[in-house]
Amino acid sequence: MAGIYLHVPFCRSKCAYCDFYSVAGDRFMEPYAAAVAKEWEARRRELGNHIVSTIYFGGGTPSALPLHLLAGIAELFPKDNVAEFTIEVNPDDVSAEAVAAWRRMGVNRVSMGVQSLLDGELRAVGRRHSAAQAIAAVEMLKQGGISNISCDLIYGLPGQTLQSWEYSLHHLLDTGITHLSAYALSYEEGTRLTRMLDKGELEPASEELSCAMYDTLCRLSSRAGMRHYEISNFSLPGMESRHNSSYWDGATPYLGLGPGAHSLDCHGVRRLVPPGLSKYIAQPEAAAIVDVETELDRLNDLLFVALRTARGLTLATLPEARRAELMSLAAPALRAGHLVCADGRLAIPEEHWLISDAVIRDLLFEEDD
Ligand code: SF4
Repeated sequence: MAGIYLHVPFCRSKCAYCDFYSVAGDRFMEPYAAAVAKEWEARRRELGNHIVSTIYFGGGTPSALPLHLLAGIAELFPKDNVAEFTIEVNPDDVSAEAVAAWRRMGVNRVSMGVQSLLDGELRAVGRRHSAAQAIAAVEMLKQGGISNISCDLIYGLPGQTLQSWEYSLHHLLDTGITHLSAYALSYEEGTRLTRMLDKGELEPASEELSCAMYDTLCRLSSRAGMRHYEISNFSLPGMESRHNSSYWDGATPYLGLGPGAHSLDCHGVRRLVPPGLSKYIAQPEAAAIVDVETELDRLNDLLFVALRTARGLTLATLPEARRAELMSLAAPALRAGHLVCADGRLAIPEEHWLISDAVIRDLLFEEDD
């Protein structure tokens, strides 16, 4: 099984916290769409004979692309066996017409950046939409026949309190969404928010507040019937993201198209499309090999992603000698209760996910001397 990721590098404006590669304006949209078609033709063989089972249009803001261009790109890809086709959207792009067009393209899952349901918090980080638009967008998606709806929220926003976080969570979960991704705000280099932080114009959330917000997130999503299946992801039973779960299971290949997209083939070869729209349009097939994974890299990457999920790591996926080595490295964490081993899987219990980095670091394999 294989996945296709398309990076759509356009946003109507830049949010204050975001360091993803994207550009404003629609001047390059047509040439971008033509470049994607060329890149697909040049690189589709990287998928070998694997059947494409998931497609993910991310960004940037895929919903900023005109519908006819999006539809043209979607037509490129084989969809006979696609179980999940996700598009990331912004609430202000959701309309009855857009939902109908996305469905005609084969989209069956929408991931929407909501971030907060308080207008003051949204304005503080430069989001274009309002809370009311986000709620109306969920309704429009449902009315238009898209029932698999994931929303993103951010905690630790400037000025956000535990009460306001609880308000956003409550009201969003009440809309009947099927999936929630929630991330702590991070201050990335080069963003407007980080410049404000450096100038002392805002205060970051304290660690204590962030932990309390994370606890509230776990409690309210569980009360809404959601399963906490990955450190930042919650879903109703059976509505986990298939595309992202494949990454977390270490499944290959996946093909990343568009400027800034990463790929990993079945032989451990990682490729990166250089970010930069003009360069991409001039030479869309310029994805370059950035790494050839050794077995050790692959196993360590797998530890990092699998141990942040509720399923944990399936020990049978490791060679026998590595399994024994891992269990010996894991012994102290098992004794401390930071890891559990059951049914052939090693997992970090949910209450210790906030210290998962430290737990995983002690398990990483090292080169034999
Ligand atoms: S819309 Fe999304 S990708 Fe675009 S700037 Fe905002 S957070 Fe970044």
